[in-house]
Amino acid sequence: MDMPAVRQRLEAEKARLRGVLDAAGRGQGTQEGGKPDQLPAEQAAETLNRELDSSVELRVRTELAEVEAALHRLDIGRYGLCEVCGGEIAEARLEAMPAARYCVADQARAERDARQRAGR
Ligand SMILES: [Zn+2]
Repeated sequence: MDMPAVRQRLEAEKARLRGVLDAAGRGQGTQEGGKPDQLPAEQAAETLNRELDSSVELRVRTELAEVEAALHRLDIGRYGLCEVCGGEIAEARLEAMPAARYCVADQARAERDARQRAGR
């Protein structure tokens, strides 16, 4: 697994998600770096602004949290390991979903539990 490439991908995704939140005018803590990244996303911002309802914002925030958690796991050398069983997450899965925190089996279990908690 090419960790520097993974980190780059996650950082890019983080910047993109923050850009989306900024476009909505509801971003938080985005001033910290002080470096105004020239994101091509700026042009899409107006469109996003119109379409960004609260459910979308919630989804973006969730994704951002996932990406930040993945970056943290990279920092502590736990990237690619399932948070439940500690087993290695399949590389193909990480390719498709760099912020994945569970192996396939535990992801399925977590989703089932979430559905049950939601009362369905
Ligand atoms: Zn697992």
